[in-house]
Amino acid sequence: MSNLAAEPEFEQAVHEISSTIEPFLAAHPEYRKAFEVVQIPERIIQFRVTWERDDGSVAVNRAFRVQFNSALGPYKGGLRLHPTVNLSVLKFLGFEQIFKNALTGLSMGGGKGGSDFDPKGKSDNEIRRFCYAFMLELSRHIGADTDIPAGDIGTGGREIGFMFGAYKKYQNEFAGILTGKGDDWGGSFIRPEATGYGLVYYVTEMLRDLDNTDWVGKRVLISGSGNVAQFAALKVIELGGHVLSFSDSTGALIATDGVGFTPADIAAIADVKLRRQALTAFQHDGRFEWHEGQRPWTLFESADVALPSATQNEVSEDEAKALVAAGVRYVAEGSNMGCTQEAIDVFEATRKQCTSEGETAGVTWYAPGKAANCGGVAVSGLEMGQNSQRLKWSHQEVDAKLKDIMITCYTNCRETGKTYVRDSAIPSLVSGANIAGFVKVAKAMLDQGDWWISGK
Ligand code: NDP
Repeated sequence: MSNLAAEPEFEQAVHEISSTIEPFLAAHPEYRKAFEVVQIPERIIQFRVTWERDDGSVAVNRAFRVQFNSALGPYKGGLRLHPTVNLSVLKFLGFEQIFKNALTGLSMGGGKGGSDFDPKGKSDNEIRRFCYAFMLELSRHIGADTDIPAGDIGTGGREIGFMFGAYKKYQNEFAGILTGKGDDWGGSFIRPEATGYGLVYYVTEMLRDLDNTDWVGKRVLISGSGNVAQFAALKVIELGGHVLSFSDSTGALIATDGVGFTPADIAAIADVKLRRQALTAFQHDGRFEWHEGQRPWTLFESADVALPSATQNEVSEDEAKALVAAGVRYVAEGSNMGCTQEAIDVFEATRKQCTSEGETAGVTWYAPGKAANCGGVAVSGLEMGQNSQRLKWSHQEVDAKLKDIMITCYTNCRETGKTYVRDSAIPSLVSGANIAGFVKVAKAMLDQGDWWISGK
């Protein structure tokens, strides 16, 4: 077993899953061995990346690929480029990815990778040189039937393009070895939008089940201002909701007029972020308030939905209490492990108070990232399918499949939660997601001899 104490993010992810799958393990103790086995990555590749700065000097970064679990299919998961990247972060992300990918219903194992390279303040040429140097080593370990990385924080369409171009040159092979590719060279329609759109499709089901309602007029708090945040916001607006906040690593920008951000504002924010600038560079004629160094969660007296969409651990216990006090009914993570364990406990406690059908006042219903944000990897899976067939599906076709996957994922979480955890009239989506994802992976590992049940 790995030294968990040295890997706080990974330890947190393991704890979150182990605490919620306990009802299943109590009923099926033979699966405890599978949980022990699944915590250890099948393989970790660790390497250095040396690249040349514009001034000719040499820079060096650490890079990793965690090939965590291939029981359901080739390793699949994004590449994060951010100074906070280390093995603990990538193991937590890869571990979550195993179960998330299982919840999409597609044939994908779990992996994650990246580097502590910081794209901020780098020229396009420096980013290109880094991506080429990164792929020089990574290209030996990935492949269309082995491991298919994708984007994540700091890795958008531009970086995927550079990495794909590098792989093609090194291997002399035009293959579906990355997802999130450009529309004209193997990419799928809706991949950039998929995580944000999928998140909103997932919450659409929650809105209907808990309050028999939809997005019209809902006041929505979003953190982050990158890929996931932007497309979640655009879909919320399209469905009639009001987006009242964005944020980045420097602070939060909030709307106090109740109307919120428009699609034109979001296009301008996307432009700012593509230039790797802070949100303060967004020009808005004083329509929004800037809160330096803050996150949006404590800045509103009332709201309906919160969608953390920046990074891990971006909702603390106190912030969770502030969201509950503001009457927020739904919290769904666009980011991976967006809420701390303490924050999840706050939300889950409100759910547990609801002991009879119909009495749902005061509930803040929580959906974990591995379910609510699985739309991104789901469309990556659809991109892999299109690449294998050398076909391209239309926008409408991919969007319809994404919606279908999100609805099936939600129903799976809700029904599994209902089956195994009977602590409230409202199902625990976090327990449901973890149990459903784990059982599927553990059964495949059992079939493949990664663990076995004595005497059977
Ligand atoms: P982007 O790089 O496009 O955007 C990230 C956003 O989060 C930026 O606004 C960034 O601010 C902010 N951010 C990053 N780190 C921090 C930090 N330490 N503190 C505060 N803010 C921070 O990434 P994505 O939108 O792609 O990813 C956001 C989250 O969604 C991540 O958790 C990712 O793992 C998850 N996710 C992404 C998927 C995808 O398809 N892209 C799929 C599933 C999950 P700044 O600009 O200042 O750096």
